[in-house]
Amino acid sequence: MVIMTNRSQKNFYTGAGLDRATVARKQADWLAQRLAAPESRFLAVWRGQFLVAPVPEGTEAPPAVQPVYLDAGSPWWREAATLAPAFLGVEGDVAHFAVDLSGLEEGHPDLVGLGTPTELRTLAHQVDRSTASLLAYVRGLLGWHQRHRFCGVCGTVTEVIEGGHVRRCTNPDCKTLHFPRTDPAVIMLVHDGDRCVMGRQARFGQGMYSTLAGFVEPGESLEEAVAREVMEEAGIQVTDVRYQSSQPWPFPSSLMLGFHARAVTTELKVDLEELEDARWFTRDEVREASLRNGPPDGSLRIPPGDSIARRLIEDWLEGEV
Ligand SMILES: [Zn+2]
Repeated sequence: MVIMTNRSQKNFYTGAGLDRATVARKQADWLAQRLAAPESRFLAVWRGQFLVAPVPEGTEAPPAVQPVYLDAGSPWWREAATLAPAFLGVEGDVAHFAVDLSGLEEGHPDLVGLGTPTELRTLAHQVDRSTASLLAYVRGLLGWHQRHRFCGVCGTVTEVIEGGHVRRCTNPDCKTLHFPRTDPAVIMLVHDGDRCVMGRQARFGQGMYSTLAGFVEPGESLEEAVAREVMEEAGIQVTDVRYQSSQPWPFPSSLMLGFHARAVTTELKVDLEELEDARWFTRDEVREASLRNGPPDGSLRIPPGDSIARRLIEDWLEGEV
């Protein structure tokens, strides 16, 4: 089942097309059957990276590479896995799982034989969109497992239940359930009609400027977070904060909530602890940058196509704001 959403569907890392089977995955019998089914697929993950192999010759490019699925018929990897296979969802009759092989040492022959460990953001440009979305889902879920092995309430070890979507504290006096975390972050293009504000962090590549962004704090609405972050980072007051779309950003666990906002004031006061610089750019300057390819030469660069920042910028350029 493919759930068509509105504008989010266009964003990279969305649209995996799996039915997550959120009711069925709570039933141990059903899960056990899926685990044993010969048609089930087991995606290999190692230390947050995906094992990939070249697409067989004769296949039209792209994609250039494909993620490696483990052989369900010779499950040596069930011993090696650091976690029970995490259930992802079903596609027709085929169940998908992710298997974490992080316990194997770097260069272990079993790993080398499977494929090359590769970071998702490197891979994103080499696989199709639905695969990139599936990998983002897996990265977020397995990353959460890695960081939540102990109970945040009492410090006891937690155990995995419900196919990898819940961890439960093993202390019988506690038994707290822990659910996968997604941290909301707002990202916004601030404009005054014909110009927009972008900032750069010291770690950015040469010439790169991007939309402002920040995490939502407790007790704060998304609109309030947008206004606060823009004031803190750039000293600009905004109004007319409008939601655009969202994007999973599992680096490690964010959900990016994209907005456009109209500037009420124009004088920049840049927070130099957060940003190296922030500036107003005209629509023409940004449009030129959007067409620019090749190595950095000091001229303006804007974020790559897998980011919601790029989407916010492009929509503004096209006048859809
Ligand atoms: Zn506990």
